[in-house]
Amino acid sequence: MWIDAHCHVEQIPNLENVLNTAQKQGVRKIVAVSVDQTSMQQILRLYQQFPQTLLPALGIHPAHILEMNPEELQSNLNFLKQSIHQAKMLGEVGLDYKYARNQEQKQLQHQILKQQLQLAQNYALPLNLHSRWALRQTMEIAIHYKQYTGYNALLHWFCQSKKLIKICNKKNIYVSVGPIILHSPQTIEVVQCIQPHLLLLETDSPVPFHNSPATPDLIPKIGEKLAQIWNTTTEKVEQQIEENFHNFLHHR
Ligand SMILES: [Zn+2]
Repeated sequence: MWIDAHCHVEQIPNLENVLNTAQKQGVRKIVAVSVDQTSMQQILRLYQQFPQTLLPALGIHPAHILEMNPEELQSNLNFLKQSIHQAKMLGEVGLDYKYARNQEQKQLQHQILKQQLQLAQNYALPLNLHSRWALRQTMEIAIHYKQYTGYNALLHWFCQSKKLIKICNKKNIYVSVGPIILHSPQTIEVVQCIQPHLLLLETDSPVPFHNSPATPDLIPKIGEKLAQIWNTTTEKVEQQIEENFHNFLHHR
């Protein structure tokens, strides 16, 4: 069974068809991350519709935090508090310094992340983390969460620095790898450093890949590429990723 560990299903047009196609390719589980209250509501509805396939991840995305006025932000947090018991994971949460341009905005992202981590801890949830332009800061938060609570943390799309990957390996932090390994030799070099038992696959659909929106059925292709990188069979990669995902969700 293949698993997509980070996907924005509520943004995918013709979702039912897309999920059917993915299913035919062996993609049986998809982590549905959210970005704000509206998307959390949509994901909880979609989870009712596709309970076998989707794993709801609830949370407020750091870039979206900056677009909200204080009332909207409070309403988003309240919704998360009321709904978090239905989540299998907290996410997509984290830091985004591309959008946080000044100290005040960075502090706001940290403060809201802290509140969300407290909820995740109370509900024994693993994390699905965003780290754009704040790789080290987000990684340190992941490490602290893991050490302090025992629950796991996944850094999504975190394939820019070998040095940071080596720290993740030591601290048992998971990293997910996307379709970029199909064409980027630099990313492949970084991916080679990830401990095989800490690696997950993702598409971040529908973020564009090669000028068209990515879909979860890309996962087996990413797995095939990983088999080449690891010099093993695609079946072995599939088994390893499934085992990793199970451990990520359930083991402290
Ligand atoms: Zn995302």
